[in-house]
Amino acid sequence: MISVLSGGTGTPKLIQGIKNIVSPDDMSIIVNTLENDYFSGVYVAADVDTVLYTLSDIINDETWYGIKGDTFVTHKQLDNLNFPELLRIGDLDRATKIQKTLLLENHTLSEAVDIQRIAMGIESKIIPMSNENSQIKVITDIGALDFHDFLIKHQSNPKVLDIQFSKVNPAPNLINTIKNSDIVIIGPSNPITSIMPIISMDGVIDALKETYVVAISPIVGNSPVTGPAGKFMNALGYDVSAIGVCSIYKEFLNKFIIDEVDKDLKNEIINIVDELEVTNTLMNTIEDKENLAKIALKSYK
Ligand code: GDP
Repeated sequence: MISVLSGGTGTPKLIQGIKNIVSPDDMSIIVNTLENDYFSGVYVAADVDTVLYTLSDIINDETWYGIKGDTFVTHKQLDNLNFPELLRIGDLDRATKIQKTLLLENHTLSEAVDIQRIAMGIESKIIPMSNENSQIKVITDIGALDFHDFLIKHQSNPKVLDIQFSKVNPAPNLINTIKNSDIVIIGPSNPITSIMPIISMDGVIDALKETYVVAISPIVGNSPVTGPAGKFMNALGYDVSAIGVCSIYKEFLNKFIIDEVDKDLKNEIINIVDELEVTNTLMNTIEDKENLAKIALKSYK
């Protein structure tokens, strides 16, 4: 049994590789929900939806957001009505979000997502990290911003001073899923806003300590491959490097995978973690994704 901890860009790329080499019913994806919120009247669980679309092969893998080939008729009409939306939600994607919003009237998020993954023909389990609503603020030089305001309205430009997020409880089946796994893979996701929210919930680190954990660095050289992870790590006092990422996970990490670009960090990292692999971690093609997945799963029998 394999578990994967995921955000909404780096790890879904890896999931495309993993799903080609393991049986779908052998895999559970535990997904960040920290940034979930209501937009335009619908509940947006962006990372969860990205995982749903990735596993059902309909993800827009240029933006890692929404459905491939989607149209934006409703989005444009809202604009015409002088009701512009912050998030650009596609028409098909909006249907998923409407369904989830309606299901949430009498189901937990875990139950709603389970209904949706079955409807999409997905055999792997998808576990939203929590059924509770959480809040995240990005403290910047221009004030405390909501996460999506920072990301979209301000294009991640302000200087980040701190990240603050509320504490939530893990979804009911999360801790047992980790404990019953032979291997947990922490994909190359933003360590601060995608993975920290998961591992900072009560009981998660203890469960990870009981399991074989492999992580892949989302930082290659001195910057993330995409997105604001570097700014967030810097604000919280971590070195923006594979070493900085490794130091966040070191309490429970068994194996760390870094990029060839960072091979000179080998000696330093081997002091922090038992096993280290150096390989190409840039996932541009399906072969890149499958190769990285095979390396991550090497110790999995
Ligand atoms: P978010 O929810 O959209 O922030 O997505 P994630 O947290 O899942 O992923 C964002 C992280 O993925 C960034 O820190 C990137 O550096 C990392 N990332 C994206 N593509 C790749 C890749 O091909 N290789 C590696 N090593 N990291 C990647």
